[in-house]
Amino acid sequence: MGDLSRRDFFKNAAGVGLGISFFEPILFKRRATAGVSASLPVIISSGGHGIKANEAAWQILGKGGNSLDAVEKGANVIESDPEDMSVGIGGLPNEEGEVELDASIMSGPDRNAGAVGGIKYIENPCSVARLVMERTDHVMIVGEGALRFALAHGFQKKNLLTDRARERWLRWKETMSDKDDWFPPKELKEAEKDLVQTYGTINVLAVDVNGNISGITTTSGLSFKIPGRLGDSPIIGAGLYVDNDVGAAGATGRGEEVIKTCGSFMVVENMRRGMSPQQACEDVVKRIINWHGGKADFQDNFVAINKKGETGAASIRKGFRYAVYNEKGNNLYEGVGLLD
Ligand code: ASP
Repeated sequence: MGDLSRRDFFKNAAGVGLGISFFEPILFKRRATAGVSASLPVIISSGGHGIKANEAAWQILGKGGNSLDAVEKGANVIESDPEDMSVGIGGLPNEEGEVELDASIMSGPDRNAGAVGGIKYIENPCSVARLVMERTDHVMIVGEGALRFALAHGFQKKNLLTDRARERWLRWKETMSDKDDWFPPKELKEAEKDLVQTYGTINVLAVDVNGNISGITTTSGLSFKIPGRLGDSPIIGAGLYVDNDVGAAGATGRGEEVIKTCGSFMVVENMRRGMSPQQACEDVVKRIINWHGGKADFQDNFVAINKKGETGAASIRKGFRYAVYNEKGNNLYEGVGLLD
């Protein structure tokens, strides 16, 4: 496959770790409002790995804890999983083989946000984003400055490039072109013959028992990206948006399109104007598709939750999974795909 077709082909890395879900029957506050069936708390996370994130977050949410601590705990578990090649340690590196992570966090009740972009060597970037939010007068710190900020707060420098991720990167580099000096091994496995760039991220959004909303988006971003490339994940309004009066939204997939459409912000604004989370997500996906003449040959996904704890999810193409933990337990669903 030539360079162009490589770049035109996008795959939504699904993540790993579909743990056994269980239901802890505690602390559901039935909302008094007539016609509202949702109970609180509720958490929604993107991807198959959302199940695992929800389980961790529920240890806080289910005991009446606040949504901010819950989403951080949920996201940290995925960031610290070396088997997950889309987030934190084990994430796929940039084109030079270095892992660069992006993350953002928003606290609804505090009306505050924090983010880090292109941070290296730090396993839990969403926790650094939280410190940017809580311990600085800034919203976003990137690159070397983000690393120094994390080290100042006692985070440990780690090698985030696992052997599995390094080998995937090496094979991508070796099979990229026959006009350079890199050769793949003679015994090349079928699956390694045509490695494409992949996406993979997690959004974790929660409404706690008090109706307070928080969210996180954390990622290693587009695999084999140009060093320094930032996607939508660390950009408030693109990969994540939270408004404590309305709800929260998060995006995964091709970040460039989500940045151009202020995707997560638009989903929340749609909910503010009366759409359900499902309608709000589908509306923004349609906008992205329309911007591409009705034929988007990439994947973008949105998840959303409103203040009542109702959830929704939509993507350009079918196959996007997300997990919701509510009074029905922790369940994996498939979002609505608007194109075949
Ligand atoms: N949206 C992320 C980015 O563009 C990647 C992803 O969600 O998979 O960096």
